[in-house]
Amino acid sequence: MRLTCQQVSRLLSQAQDQPLSLGERIKLRLHLSVCDACSNFRRSLGFIRQAARRRPPQP
Ligand SMILES: [Zn+2]
Repeated sequence: MRLTCQQVSRLLSQAQDQPLSLGERIKLRLHLSVCDACSNFRRSLGFIRQAARRRPPQP
């Protein structure tokens, strides 16, 4: 029932584009609470996303 790190990283990438189902989010959260590697991965994804959002509209 538990997600593997590979499944978690796929879900995290997916979550950047589309909302996850409730079940997916719960399993993700459970995994992140016990797995440092995936927590770090999620943090870096969030960082990238924030950086992209902060980018000014003009090049
Ligand atoms: Zn993991």
